[in-house]
Amino acid sequence: MSTKKELKLLTELLNLEGVNVYSHRQYEGIGIILQIEAIDRESICGRCGLKSNKIHQNRRHIIKDLSWGEKAVFLEINRKQFKCEKCQKPFSEEMGFVKERRTYPKRLANDREKNQAGKNSKRKA
Ligand SMILES: [Zn+2]
Repeated sequence: MSTKKELKLLTELLNLEGVNVYSHRQYEGIGIILQIEAIDRESICGRCGLKSNKIHQNRRHIIKDLSWGEKAVFLEINRKQFKCEKCQKPFSEEMGFVKERRTYPKRLANDREKNQAGKNSKRKA
């Protein structure tokens, strides 16, 4: 069980805008899994622009985040699907830090690019 204090701290450490850590687990030999969800309880339909807070279903997926020291960190995202009352169609909420169909967050991609750039410049010098 995670205490409220721990979760607040983890949310602060994770430092992803609009994201709340609601649970965490640690697996020996694997790493830490943070269960996260967007704080927003509503989202905007990409088809018509109408706001919806009617949850259609939740979809979970796991992505790898930056490691904390020697521990691998995974984010288990609880991504809400809303149903637009106008279009009568479900849509997934936008989570800015995860690009659609990517297995890692943007900031990890940026980190990789930076590392790559560093290596390249060293090679040139
Ligand atoms: Zn709509």
